[in-house]
Amino acid sequence: MAKLDIELFPCRSDNFGVLIHDPETGATASIDAPEEQPILDALKRRGWTLTHILTTHHHTDHVDANLALKTRYEATIIGPENEAKKIPGIDMTIGDGGDFEFAGHKVHVFETPGHTAGHICFYFPDDKLLFSADTLFALGCGRLFEGTPAQMWASLQKLMALPDDTVVYFGHEYTLSNARFAVTVDPHNAALKSRAAEIEALRARGAFTAPTTLGLEKTTNPFLRPHDAAIRAHLHMDNASDAEVFAEIRKRKDNF
Ligand code: ZN
Ligand code: FE
Repeated sequence: MAKLDIELFPCRSDNFGVLIHDPETGATASIDAPEEQPILDALKRRGWTLTHILTTHHHTDHVDANLALKTRYEATIIGPENEAKKIPGIDMTIGDGGDFEFAGHKVHVFETPGHTAGHICFYFPDDKLLFSADTLFALGCGRLFEGTPAQMWASLQKLMALPDDTVVYFGHEYTLSNARFAVTVDPHNAALKSRAAEIEALRARGAFTAPTTLGLEKTTNPFLRPHDAAIRAHLHMDNASDAEVFAEIRKRKDNF
């Protein structure tokens, strides 16, 4: 099994486009399809032909180019079972715990409700890759449009069970504002402080903050740390449940 090649590029105002390519078979998947032209440009730059679209959820900024790309390439669209009716051009649905193969690479699906009711994340265990879209961001998590804090916390816990060296590609370049918020709830975390400084520098020169790793998120992302004693003390929530602390952090971020 060959290593997957990955092309990361900006789409729309703050979405990431991601292409994954298997050099042995030529299979190429777009993780979501935020915008047609940048995806066409990326395919051309690498000399790849689109064969699949892996859709994470129904929001327009993730499915806008589905039909145009499907028409142009006859790409197969694989997407979430629990919001399949809202995914333009969907060919194959998959739900929680579902497995399939992309060019011989194992893919495992986690349903992660919270941002939307049927949001899914794609995990490639042999490649140690996770595509978390709008569930888990660098130093953040998705807004709760269709779910409760308890649901989102349960979803994030599924992802937290994966190995620390899992490389995570996420849906939006929100990392700078996430970092500025994170230090307000976890002000004494040295690893977070140094990461926040790095992110300021990266964004000042226009570099991407993706990908990240699960290990780095576990030590610095407050949304994965509601059990942390220092965060709990800072929020005066020593005796609350993890889900309650998570809900408080999410609420503060909504008002940040
Ligand atoms: Zn979304
Ligand atoms: Fe989005």
